[in-house]
Amino acid sequence: MEFSSKLLENAVYEMSQLPGIGKRTALRLVLHLLRQPETQTQHLVKALGTLREDVKFCKKCHSISDVEVCDICSNPNRIQDIVCVVEDIRDVMAIESTSQYRGLYHVLGGKISPMDGIGPQDLKIHTLVEKVKSGTIKELIFALSATMEGDTTNFYIYKQLEGVEVKIATIARGIGVNDELEYADEVTLGRSIINRIPFENALKSS
Ligand SMILES: [Zn+2]
Repeated sequence: MEFSSKLLENAVYEMSQLPGIGKRTALRLVLHLLRQPETQTQHLVKALGTLREDVKFCKKCHSISDVEVCDICSNPNRIQDIVCVVEDIRDVMAIESTSQYRGLYHVLGGKISPMDGIGPQDLKIHTLVEKVKSGTIKELIFALSATMEGDTTNFYIYKQLEGVEVKIATIARGIGVNDELEYADEVTLGRSIINRIPFENALKSS
């Protein structure tokens, strides 16, 4: 792509670093911004800058939060001894939108993926294991996507908790294999949490 303006080229380059945005789409977005009032670009830049500077991760569940302990963890009406294990905040949002789950969450921040160089130590697994070992949790629900990485992560956590008294369940797979949670429709996802199955049963069937 030949640019007559270095400023334009830089902006397009930065935009094209985003996932799913090729050079052409990046150019379209940048030109769109240039056609809009200048304030719109300023608001965008400010929102992203403030997010990066001020973002916090909940001390308890590691989800993105504006405060030290997120609204879900600090809500006394949530069931405190059931914890749903998810990959990131998108899963929390998807499950919350079903209104079928009243427990707490633990956000791992990804899945174990040797191909991408992500090992257990790169995820919030240690704090989860500690939390369970402290004896305050009655049930864990694995709600990672049904991919090889998701299964590996579930199994790793399961192994870490061997001998610890805690019920471990996995969401029922009305959700197809390889489907990411955020794409499951609310009814299916809600049902799969209610109809969760003991993790050991899931191990036998696979
Ligand atoms: Zn939290």
